[in-house]
Amino acid sequence: MFIRLPSPYLEAVKKVGRERALEYDTTKMLIEEVEDFVFKNHQEIAGFVLEAGVQGAAGILPFPKGYLKEIRRICDEYNILMIVDEVATGFGRTGHMFACEKEGVEPDIMALGKGITGGYLPLAATLVTDEIFNQFLGEFGEAKHFYHGHTYTGNPLACSVAIANLEVFEEEQTLKKLQPKIKLLEERLKEFWDLKHVGDVRQYGFMAGIELVKNKKTKEPFPYGERTGFKVANYMIKKGVWVRPLGDVMVIMPPLVISEEDLNYMLDVMKKAVKSI
Ligand SMILES: *Cc1c(COP(=O)(O)O)cnc(C)c1O
Repeated sequence: MFIRLPSPYLEAVKKVGRERALEYDTTKMLIEEVEDFVFKNHQEIAGFVLEAGVQGAAGILPFPKGYLKEIRRICDEYNILMIVDEVATGFGRTGHMFACEKEGVEPDIMALGKGITGGYLPLAATLVTDEIFNQFLGEFGEAKHFYHGHTYTGNPLACSVAIANLEVFEEEQTLKKLQPKIKLLEERLKEFWDLKHVGDVRQYGFMAGIELVKNKKTKEPFPYGERTGFKVANYMIKKGVWVRPLGDVMVIMPPLVISEEDLNYMLDVMKKAVKSI
């Protein structure tokens, strides 16, 4: 059985508003409720599953500061496995190799995908601690083996691409070169706050979301059927920039190797596109 908790960002906005949503004090407030819940239910909780610092496909929703670390503390305290989904955030996307590093958190189980091959071939991996791994060791007769596989598990070609990708990370110092681009993105995102139909601007490392709203003050969204995000994306395609909207959130998730020039162009086009609504 799954028990779902509210999205940390959306809950934070509900409680303290957008300006203070990411502050550490907000985390304390949210964590109090999570801890209360875990305290009452921990005997039925095997694992705590969450994304690493930011919810991606939900609309680029960053966690308030220290949230991930607090969840680690709670999981330790109640002997719950911390299962972190780094499929979107892993391999440099947040400016760290893994987003967990940002708060010095080590999960018990980590899900990886997407960036592991730079996106060139499909490959996913599940990492576990030695403690978990060792549970599956034993004599054959003990039947401790992890008898689980997929058709394409361990695909050699995909694995070679992943290894090559990791080599490129080191050779080209991808992470190091990414840092000024994260800063540039941060600077340029400020320009979007003033636009008429921008209700929120969120960034987490080298991913960002610009939320389009009908009414800037009330944050009233555009009617779903109007497909505003899709229209903005379509405008951009005509100028040679491909982005994927998540509903009315314009997602900025450029290749890590993008040049500053191309990043600027991408943001120029996006600005024009958002102004065109
Ligand atoms: C894309 C994505 C997934 C889906 O991964 P699959 O390998 O396609 O199942 C899971 N979690 C996050 C955070 C993602 O961004």
